[in-house]
Amino acid sequence: MTHYSVGKATITRIEETYQPVYSPRELFPEFTDTLFNEHRHWLAPHHYDVATGKLMLSVHSWLLQIGKQKILIDACCGNHKSRPTRPWWNMLDTPYLDRLAAAGARPDEIDLVMCTHLHHDHVGWNTQLKDGKWVPTFPNARYVFSKPDVEYFQKMDLDPKTTPAEFGTFRECVLPVVEAGRADLVTGPHRLNDHIEIIPAPGHSPGHVVFSLESGGAHAAFTGDVFHHLMQVYYPHWNFPKNSDAEQARTSRRTVLDHCASKGALVFPGHAGAPFAGRIETSAQGFRPRFE
Ligand SMILES: [Zn+2]
Repeated sequence: MTHYSVGKATITRIEETYQPVYSPRELFPEFTDTLFNEHRHWLAPHHYDVATGKLMLSVHSWLLQIGKQKILIDACCGNHKSRPTRPWWNMLDTPYLDRLAAAGARPDEIDLVMCTHLHHDHVGWNTQLKDGKWVPTFPNARYVFSKPDVEYFQKMDLDPKTTPAEFGTFRECVLPVVEAGRADLVTGPHRLNDHIEIIPAPGHSPGHVVFSLESGGAHAAFTGDVFHHLMQVYYPHWNFPKNSDAEQARTSRRTVLDHCASKGALVFPGHAGAPFAGRIETSAQGFRPRFE
């Protein structure tokens, strides 16, 4: 299990899955053979799987422990959730909660669950199935959701043309938390406490946010899906295919990379391969990742 320290905070990666998922060109049409050869030396095995010819994608949460607080950042896909068009994440049955316990947090010890956005692979463990009903997995936690995302996916879920939003995960993993009165909906830049600030980074979804942490002069940033692969640090105009606003996603990516580089922040992305966290440096060409 991978642990990181930032000031007085401890951060642990809780893995759900880590596997080859998309072919490079399927994810990024700009990923030419020339660029592939240029970056080949660092891509395999952690960011590209030679055997399948596909890019590696991790799905994980970050457990942030600071003072007495235990905070879960992003909630993966969850068990027993149907993803008809994503066979690699369909009806999962992983020991995710055991891994979380091994990292130091039983479900009833989690104080806060914070989702960078409300796509299906970031909300899954918000709820679990109990007696045929989806109920909050973390009974004592407040859940922090971005209000623009709740409104966007709610609208999509209610529209007969687009329902069910996010393969049904909006009604399975978000609504039950709201209905249980456990959700705090936040808008705009928002200071959550002494250490954590919520910074809007829209485009992948309308309400996508980044969680910025400061402790003892050290900085960290939980960047969710601002980028999905480290190639996008070199090429910030490369977009993941699914975005609410492609141009806004590019702008947010550059802004967040710039923020992380200028703060010297340890960066915790939502899907990057091993070692899963690292720093962003500026270079003559723009940015480069230092994940080692
Ligand atoms: Zn994601």
